[in-house]
Amino acid sequence: MLGGMQDWPLLVWKLIDHAALHHGSREIVTARVEGGESRSNWREVRERALKVAQGLSRLGVRTGDRAATLAWNTQRHVECWYGISGMGAVAHTVNPRLFEEQIVYIINHAGDRVLFFDLTFVPLVERIAPKLNTVEHYVLMTGREHVPETSIPDLLAYEDLIAASDGDFEWANVDELTPAGLCYTSGTTGNPKGVLYTHRSNVLHTFGANSADALGLTSAATILPVVPMYHANAWGVPYAAAAAGAKLVMGGAHFDAPTLHGLIMREGVTLTAAVPTVWLAMLQHLEKSGQGMGELKRVVIGGSAVPRSMIVDFKEKYDVTVCHAWGMTEMSPLGTLGSLSAAALEKTQQEQFDIQTKQGRAIFGVEMKIVDDNGDEMPRDGKAFGHLMVRGPWVVREYYAGDGGHVLDADGWFDTGDVATIDPSGYMQITDRAKDVIKSGGEWISSIELENEAVGHAAVAEAAVIGLPHPKWDERPLLIVVRKPDTNPSKQDLLDHLEGRVAKWWMPNDVVFVDEIPHTATGKIQKLTLRQQFKDYRFPDAA
Ligand code: AMP
Repeated sequence: MLGGMQDWPLLVWKLIDHAALHHGSREIVTARVEGGESRSNWREVRERALKVAQGLSRLGVRTGDRAATLAWNTQRHVECWYGISGMGAVAHTVNPRLFEEQIVYIINHAGDRVLFFDLTFVPLVERIAPKLNTVEHYVLMTGREHVPETSIPDLLAYEDLIAASDGDFEWANVDELTPAGLCYTSGTTGNPKGVLYTHRSNVLHTFGANSADALGLTSAATILPVVPMYHANAWGVPYAAAAAGAKLVMGGAHFDAPTLHGLIMREGVTLTAAVPTVWLAMLQHLEKSGQGMGELKRVVIGGSAVPRSMIVDFKEKYDVTVCHAWGMTEMSPLGTLGSLSAAALEKTQQEQFDIQTKQGRAIFGVEMKIVDDNGDEMPRDGKAFGHLMVRGPWVVREYYAGDGGHVLDADGWFDTGDVATIDPSGYMQITDRAKDVIKSGGEWISSIELENEAVGHAAVAEAAVIGLPHPKWDERPLLIVVRKPDTNPSKQDLLDHLEGRVAKWWMPNDVVFVDEIPHTATGKIQKLTLRQQFKDYRFPDAA
């Protein structure tokens, strides 16, 4: 027997239809790639997205075809996103920070038929266009007046594509399991692999993201997703903002603290989402300029571990609450958020900071467990750490085109590649990527925890810890530090700072100072590069 309720397919265009109808005048503000700012709203953006969909249909794009974007967070990018998936095609957000060969590989592998791109990427697209085997249409995301002389074949101006559409078009009533989006993981080894989101998975993720302990967007919220749409769907913010009717502030090509700070203040941003490096720069900027944070109440930070000192600084200096988030491209991407439980709210401020340093509790819709090397489940005692496994309706089942073969175990669990603890209250804490954990004398040392403690030193701008070979212990930690400008801490200063904060046997065997720590295309510390950089290094006690 079947139940008696409606089968209302979960399709992403329903999100923007809802936003346009119920929150039509809520604004979408963009720091434009051409300069200046543009102001629009959900009603207009929906109308223009429909015109994009109509334009694509005119170009011959059909259900299931892929259309790529190489673009910053802008109003036009949101229009493309909804326009592409709304007409039944797949919105493939390409990360422009990847190496050029990887971008070429990804576009060819996805078989993208259309490439939308921002003015910033004209030189890039000129270089790669001859190597793109499947792209038939190039659309420059600007008005005709900004289109430069270029070798890119059959170049269309985005505003012309829209102007040629009258908007008399209907969204595609596809099955909810039809793919809506595609995003490649920026894997450090091997070729990137594609995660093909469905309409259903994206809509369910939106419900999860908007639950109160997660992003919890409301129609009164103003959100600035600094995290780019090409990085794991900007953590679902452009969907969640539409569902809630929140005001959306888009930073365009800007990631620098002064510009972002200006937007936060002028637009009355209440909530933001970004990786820790953005906030390291912001805190330094605020310290120098002596400015405050306006109406900002909460910053969601994820993508890499958030150091405790950052959580403390935000709260004590600016009365802004940090909400730690963890997830991955394969999870659409949200898995856990670090909002405070009823029990945590009873604790002291310092204890709450400790809890907020953890990556958080699972959103409903995400199942989580930790297992040992044999796949046996480990206790949720906050101490045992094991491989973090996840399962749920917005978790990957297989990579695009079957790359990587079977990625689930017999019970449907996906191995995140992270190592974590889960405490009795359900708070998960990442100790490391499985491949970055430092194996010393048969025990594991968490590089993330050492980094977090090191960054707590007042003169440290950024810190990375890698495991390097040691004749006696197998591996030992090397602490790599970028000093803050105009400071000059010594090795001993840093070791003294760590003393007592971490277990004795976790203490780094040496400290080195560098000008810069390399980052991946999604803002994570590039441990592989660091390990290569230091491959000839020998610890003083191992020479
Ligand atoms: P990506 O698919 O690029 O978003 O990368 C996902 C990976 O980033 C995860 O598997 C983690 O290793 C790491 N990550 C994401 N959020 C956090 C966090 N809050 N703390 C530590 N690592 C994180």
